[in-house]
Amino acid sequence: MPDSDTLIAVKPEIAARAHVDAARYRAMYDEAARDPEGFWRRELRRIAWIEEPTRIKDADFTGEVRIRWFEDGVLNASVSCLDRHIAAGRGDQVAIIWEGDDPGTDAKVTYRELHERVCRLANALKALGVRKGDRVCIYLPMIVEAAVAMLACARIGAIHSVVFGGFSPDSLASRIQDSECSILITADEGRRGGRTVPLKANADEALATCPSIRHVVVVRHTGAPVPMRAGRDLWWHELCAEAAPHCAPEPMGAEDPLFILYTSGSTGKPKGVLHTTGGYMVWASFTHELVFDYHPGEIYWCTADVGWVTGHTYIVYGPLANGATTLMFEGVPSWPDSSRFWQVVDKHRVNIFYTAPTAIRALMREGEGPVRRTSRRSLRILGTVGEPINPEAWLWYYRVVGEERCPVVDTWWQTETGGILISPLPGATALKPGSATLPLPGVKPGIVDGEGRLLEGAAEGNLVLLDSWPGQMRTVYGDHARFVQTYFSTFPGMYFTGDGARRDADGYYWITGRVDDVINVAGHRLGTAEIESALVAHPKVAEAAVVGMPHDIKGQGIYAYVTLKAGVEPSEELRKELIAWVRKEIGPIATPDAIQWAPALPKTRSGKIMRRILRKIAANETENLGDTSTLADPAVVGELVANRVR
Ligand code: ATP
Ligand code: MG
Repeated sequence: MPDSDTLIAVKPEIAARAHVDAARYRAMYDEAARDPEGFWRRELRRIAWIEEPTRIKDADFTGEVRIRWFEDGVLNASVSCLDRHIAAGRGDQVAIIWEGDDPGTDAKVTYRELHERVCRLANALKALGVRKGDRVCIYLPMIVEAAVAMLACARIGAIHSVVFGGFSPDSLASRIQDSECSILITADEGRRGGRTVPLKANADEALATCPSIRHVVVVRHTGAPVPMRAGRDLWWHELCAEAAPHCAPEPMGAEDPLFILYTSGSTGKPKGVLHTTGGYMVWASFTHELVFDYHPGEIYWCTADVGWVTGHTYIVYGPLANGATTLMFEGVPSWPDSSRFWQVVDKHRVNIFYTAPTAIRALMREGEGPVRRTSRRSLRILGTVGEPINPEAWLWYYRVVGEERCPVVDTWWQTETGGILISPLPGATALKPGSATLPLPGVKPGIVDGEGRLLEGAAEGNLVLLDSWPGQMRTVYGDHARFVQTYFSTFPGMYFTGDGARRDADGYYWITGRVDDVINVAGHRLGTAEIESALVAHPKVAEAAVVGMPHDIKGQGIYAYVTLKAGVEPSEELRKELIAWVRKEIGPIATPDAIQWAPALPKTRSGKIMRRILRKIAANETENLGDTSTLADPAVVGELVANRVR
């Protein structure tokens, strides 16, 4: 694999002021493994408790599967994120910097202002009859109200279910129905990349099949006229103007639900992941501080949407629990031009920047110019999440964006894990481009073979987690049997991630892709990530997706979809060149049998390549493509079907 043996040492200037250096990481890791009770009894104090728990951990991955953390503790998540910072004299610090889609628009909200806005909406929701345990659906663009709505639910003990604002009426309806929400919070319209998104119109369409919804609270954002149904629809600003600015936080048990969030749907029908209050909050705060080495006063920006778990944990709950200034961006990386991310970094003096490989690859495709035009001097740490990052993209991020000054933290985790589990720590871990490196303290990963046998030392196989951590999901909402079946039945007694991984001689983890995507060529198991990374390492390739296809002799052959860099034309010559390139990079076993030029790849709304659809196209099984409701652009599929390589 290109550059996979490159080792980038910890930077002394980063280590010098880091919360955790290499020795401290080892000590923490050992202590959390040896004495989890003692370790977490201390770490749980990083959040505010109404009653501190005496019971720490109660987890059993067998039978009915039972996961409890801090069970007799009482708290309210919004107090950790708001009240205690004000009590500590930091009420005038900026909590949220909002950067609008239009480069001329931004706003700053202090902790004191955020507290008041949260309390007003909390009171308004109470007046609408929302009680502890009720479900509230949030379908908003990336505006401050999204964070306010989440925290207002937490304030009164309502369970929020955030649905990404880019989802269709059908996707919204199925999520509302699954968790039987009684209130929907939305906006007139959203803005993205210079276009508007008709959120209220989508909501109206969805609600035709959602009898559980009693009221719709509508934020006036763009000011576009929208129909308001009398008795059902209410304006946010009117409700909040009437509501009192103080609201006593509802005392919540540590194991009371905080939110439901549906997974991205890369592998099939989305699952309603349920997270509870105490363990999730401890994990959000712990991982945000360690992985991003967050220090007070720093400006932190995670580019995810609040509709994904990354937005929940690393735009809202983690940063706010840690008293950070968190940036919320309404727009997209490519509008008005491909410099936008870096312009925003310069404008707000961002110190920590966290994005996804899909964004990095898209920007890489445009060359270095749009990056070089900006300063980026404020940047200290870079992060990535969502898919395996190809070493080529990692190095581009490190060299071009961070100018070799900023460590890159490649963070592996899932909606189900609540927060980051495997990642470098900036002051502790030497980096290898393309590797998520080492587990965080409290995380016990394992690699098992097909029969569930634990492999020792350097090994490749299925990535499992051998013990619980505080941020783990507790159940699939309304379907505990599906929870047990999905995560604990493949390898009894272990949590199965669905991902494949390789552990090298240094104990570093390399995520090889989803296990369902592994290709078996003449008895050799090949991860998609490795072949894709080889293709992306070619100077003319911007992005690649590799799947298996039926092959008479080899069992499976390799079918590659390739997106070329801006300005490069496909040709028969280039096709041969790429085949030869992969043979040289990985070996003859990885020789692609077919290469299809793909102007664009089918991706989930969160930007992940949907290989299950590509697999069907490659196998010519295009009649039934499965659940495509979470696709960002369904038109891409038709184009690929039409140009399938025979
Ligand atoms: P679904 O479970 O509905 O199919 P999904 O798995 O895409 O959707 P998420 O929980 O958003 O939903 O994504 C988690 C997955 O993303 C991981 O299991 C892994 O496959 C991938 N992933 C996330 N971060 C990384 C990373 N740093 N390196 C490699 N893969 C990653
Ligand atoms: Mg998943």
